[in-house]
Amino acid sequence: MRETAYTDPFWEALVDGKVLIHRCEECTSRFFPPGPVCPYCQSLAVEWQESTGKGTLFSFTRQHVTAPEFDDGLIVGVIELDDEPRLLTPIDEPYQDLRIGNRFRIESFEYVSGFDRGRLEDYPFFVANRIDG
Ligand SMILES: [Zn+2]
Repeated sequence: MRETAYTDPFWEALVDGKVLIHRCEECTSRFFPPGPVCPYCQSLAVEWQESTGKGTLFSFTRQHVTAPEFDDGLIVGVIELDDEPRLLTPIDEPYQDLRIGNRFRIESFEYVSGFDRGRLEDYPFFVANRIDG
């Protein structure tokens, strides 16, 4: 029997290149990562919403020493989506070219790893690709 998780719709949408976030039906806040409770008003009335995946670079860093299976120099950042929530993501752009405010789109990414991703083994991951030059 396949194990399921609350976040499965997110990973399944990513297969089709779609980014899903959560929207609270009570306070209308949108948030990420998805969860069954609104982090702003604690309502349980939350629904999935498709995001454009587009947003602005809020913060970034370069990891000089990484875990095995990751390249040294891995760049991660926080993208503030146009749809509201901020999302922590790997960034596919040279570190020296990055500036706060750059425009990005979150896209699915075929992720080949040498470690066990468990039930997510066959699912893509996501990465931020620059869209403003
Ligand atoms: Zn809420």
